Amino acid sequence: MQALKYARAASVDEAVKMLREGGPTARVLAGGTDVIVQARERRRQIELFVDIKHIDEVMSMRMEPRGLTIGAGVPLYKIYGDAQIARHYAALAESTRVIGGTAIQGRATIGGNLANASPAADSIPALFVLGAVATVAGPNGRREVPATQFCTGPGVNVLLTGEFIVSIFFPALPAHTGTAWERFIPRNEMDIAVTNAAAMLTMNGETVTEARIALGAVAPRTLYVEAAAAALAGKPLTDASIAAAAVAARDAATPIDDMRGSIKQRKHLSGVLVERTIRRAAERARA
Ligand SMILES: Cc1cc2nc3c(=O)[nH]c(=O)nc-3n(C[C@H](O)[C@H](O)[C@H](O)COP(=O)(O)OP(=O)(O)OC[C@H]3O[C@@H](n4cnc5c(N)ncnc54)[C@H](O)[C@@H]3O)c2cc1C
Repeated sequence: MQALKYARAASVDEAVKMLREGGPTARVLAGGTDVIVQARERRRQIELFVDIKHIDEVMSMRMEPRGLTIGAGVPLYKIYGDAQIARHYAALAESTRVIGGTAIQGRATIGGNLANASPAADSIPALFVLGAVATVAGPNGRREVPATQFCTGPGVNVLLTGEFIVSIFFPALPAHTGTAWERFIPRNEMDIAVTNAAAMLTMNGETVTEARIALGAVAPRTLYVEAAAAALAGKPLTDASIAAAAVAARDAATPIDDMRGSIKQRKHLSGVLVERTIRRAAERARA
């Protein structure tokens, strides 16, 4: 492990000041479940950790009529353990429930999962279909960044020096909307997704009025699969329309071969997981 300094920020402004003064080798420390491993293995040059877990706004979570705001430092177990979130944002609860294990979930955050920008990050497909927007604070004030625009490549995101995610906002979903998330891993737990997927459907009777589909671990960053959504939106939900969405998902996937899975397997899984998440989201929308 490289020698590095640790600083604890007590406010958003103080964190921004510390990150700006620290420059490109200053890093936000949230749960530390990615970044401490990266520092130990010298995969990133880090001279300063700025701990954001002592800032009230970053640690708070609130559900309002307009939507849900989750501070970027809130640990995963508080997210999936919240009955309102499980009910209204099922894809988010499902994805956070499986990240790592109990010990990881006591520290890790969705802010860290998003900022780390892994192509296989489990919460990001859920963030995509839920229309999540990150509130970013920096030297020039605050700005909003949709989750779909946050990651620009493996391990790279849009944040500038001095900026960090304060919270992530999830708009309230329309009535008769259901969401679902699923991944494939060869083990039962504690593994990185070979492929993951999330779906959101809004239904009017049996007609899909809006659909959103996202896929992870099959491209350099999480994919928002518009063609799969287009195969569903404005039509009755049928086996044929679900199959068309699954084909669109397979076609959109451009995975790599690696020790976790082959291109063929990941393309196949893209179709399977998209079909499953659509069916589960539809059941929830009907309920
Ligand atoms: C044993 C183990 C199992 C794991 N299993 C999974 C899994 O199943 N699925 C999965 O997706 N991941 C998994 N991970 C990876 C990791 O736990 C997650 O990505 C987690 O969500 C990271 O959150 P964190 O708060 O710990 O981030 P940190 O490690 O604190 O930070 C990660 C990166 O994001 C930056 N960052 C963190 N918060 C912010 C912020 N608010 N603003 C700006 N930048 C920020 C940091 O500077 C760092 O670069 C696993 C890790 C371990 C060690």
